[in-house]
Amino acid sequence: SSNRKQIIKQRHREVANDLLPYYTAQLYIGGNWVDSASGQTLQTRDPTTGEVLAEVQAGNEADIDRAVDAAWKAYDDCWAAYSTADRQRILTEIADRIETRKKEFAKLESLDNGKPITESRDDIDLVIDHFRYFAGAARFLEGKTIPTDSNNHIQTIKEPYGVVGQITPWNFPLLMASWKLAPALAAGNTIVLKPAEQTPLSIIEFIRETEDVLPPGVVNLITGYGAEAGAPLVSHDDVRKIAFTGSTEVGHGVMKNTANTITDLTLELGGKSPVIVFPDADIEKAVTVTTKALFFNAGECCCAGTRLLIHEDIYDQFLPAYMEEVGSLTVGDPLLDETELGPKVSQAELERTMRYIGWALEADAEILTGGGPPDDEALTDGNFVAPTVISDLDHESRVAQEEIFGPVEAVFRWSSYDTMIELANDTQFGLAAGIITDDLDSAYRTARDIEAGNIWINTYNEFQAGQPFGGYKQSGTGRETAFETLEEYTQTKSINVGFE
Ligand code: NAD
Repeated sequence: SSNRKQIIKQRHREVANDLLPYYTAQLYIGGNWVDSASGQTLQTRDPTTGEVLAEVQAGNEADIDRAVDAAWKAYDDCWAAYSTADRQRILTEIADRIETRKKEFAKLESLDNGKPITESRDDIDLVIDHFRYFAGAARFLEGKTIPTDSNNHIQTIKEPYGVVGQITPWNFPLLMASWKLAPALAAGNTIVLKPAEQTPLSIIEFIRETEDVLPPGVVNLITGYGAEAGAPLVSHDDVRKIAFTGSTEVGHGVMKNTANTITDLTLELGGKSPVIVFPDADIEKAVTVTTKALFFNAGECCCAGTRLLIHEDIYDQFLPAYMEEVGSLTVGDPLLDETELGPKVSQAELERTMRYIGWALEADAEILTGGGPPDDEALTDGNFVAPTVISDLDHESRVAQEEIFGPVEAVFRWSSYDTMIELANDTQFGLAAGIITDDLDSAYRTARDIEAGNIWINTYNEFQAGQPFGGYKQSGTGRETAFETLEEYTQTKSINVGFE
């Protein structure tokens, strides 16, 4: 196994050498690569091997100020004057560029985040498709003519905000950036983007690849920590809209800080989504969907189906089949095609997941499988957690109520429909839910009764462009990935013309 560990390390070093032409990356401001004002940097590590992959700048308020100025300059000098057709052409070109280097982007994502390569490839396909979707959608952004009782003519037009600030998390690094960049650019804004400090590499490569496609200053990239680089972006006087994806905890602060400047805000926050298995469910289908619902991306998914609610009539049949499937998941090197579960993104995240498992144990819940690092010497340098399933958990406990963001499933039984719905809705979140049944009445009735922004029936974790994505309750406000997102990156102006 120490030999296997060396093979993994070697493989990762080779891929890193191939894909990272620099050791220290710079900030991208106004079309120039520059050092941070403070000269500080931070390291990004490979979560599989623990080795440092690269260094990036730790930006701060002075860098955000420079970037916001550059974004306004680009807006005033060129971007505002570009036609929709110009922007469409540019977004399409970006999609084509990413597509040409799809394999490299996927490997870079797996290297920096630890997600299985097959999932990274799907992420990059979605990235490409989001740029194409918004390239086309931009042509349909229209105002209205409002009927009047007079001769007046009332018209609305949709105008961009100007400069928008965007902050992204580490779980789908390039995809989350694309969910934000594509609609904001399509609507005619310029951007300052602050990616997660754990996973800056794919967005840096994206900028390097599209440097000659986007005019200077249209997209500015400030890497760095949340408190130092994210907070000043949120509070900046000259930023007209903030789009934030991250934890609900940080989201609370972001919302408070945008209040000072009355800045428009989109928030995509956490979740604790239920997946409901009905008594008529086909066992095989239920096992496939519920496994994907949680263990996809090692549970590092805002919409992860973390609470599995199984009808009592099917529980004894479903659970052994589910446990067998979970037990057969291939945990290992994310760069290999066979891998289904990679490491957590960081040591800190590994420890956070382990704390939740510890609390479940203290509360005498039953750990049906997993509960710690996998039993594989070759993986001990990475932040791995074995797929974990917990039963007999108090639904009021922190483990059942809070977002763990790791491969940890909590299973519950239900009998009556009403108590099931109560349980399903009994968290502060409302991001997503899964429903598994072949009965149309049950499926649609449940879809309506669940308080969540995204409902998947007999499927899970599908992120098709055009389908609005966002949360109810404390899972957020605003919708991404759809036509209405384009409108959320514009403001409406009413023009009333008086005639005799
Ligand atoms: P996080 O909130 O810690 O960080 C997210 C981003 O915010 C990072 O770029 C971070 O540097 C920045 N940040 C941190 N403190 C900040 C501050 N005070 N001001 C401004 N920015 C700040 O979250 P995370 O742990 O990186 O990401 C995981 C979270 O993201 C999970 O809770 C998950 O549910 C959520 N998420 C939600 C969606 C969605 O669409 N709803 C999608 C993906 C992830």
